[in-house]
Amino acid sequence: MENNKEHLKLEMDSLSQNEEFARVVTAVFMSRLNPTLEEVDDVKTAVSEAVTNAIIHGYRGERGVVYMDITADVEERELTVQVKDTGVGIPDVKQAMEPMFTTDPEGERSGMGFSFMEAFMDQVDVQSQPGEGTVVIMKKYIGR
Ligand code: ATP
Ligand code: MG
Repeated sequence: MENNKEHLKLEMDSLSQNEEFARVVTAVFMSRLNPTLEEVDDVKTAVSEAVTNAIIHGYRGERGVVYMDITADVEERELTVQVKDTGVGIPDVKQAMEPMFTTDPEGERSGMGFSFMEAFMDQVDVQSQPGEGTVVIMKKYIGR
């Protein structure tokens, strides 16, 4: 069964320019599942939100490492994207995932990142501990 799964691991500095890189790499990798343009755009948006959160909130602008793990299950037509940081973590994940919840003090953020991830992916799972970082695992079914 494992033969039907293809993996890609990425490790990058928490720099804002790497957010575009993460999106493009994910899009190219998922193309082996023959997704529609809309499916690619959905995943790119979700990846962008998760990576931006890792950089801005997880590491609070300080230098850290963002880890990505992407799996394409060719048989099941399923894409799994994991975005991980080892930053500050989230004290209350349920609250953080509520629409319009933000801890941004400048009022520049709308608190919609998790809502977009949930809207554009079929499944979103967040695991986090204060002081230990955050893992976001997202799944998208392609063409089914
Ligand atoms: P927007 O995404 O609309 O710009 P936002 O980032 O505040 O605003 P969400 O992406 O929904 O909104 O995240 C909600 C809150 O969850 C954040 O304000 C932050 O407090 C917390 N959070 C999200 N991701 C992380 C992370 N990787 N590490 C620490 N805290 C996080
Ligand atoms: Mg966000």
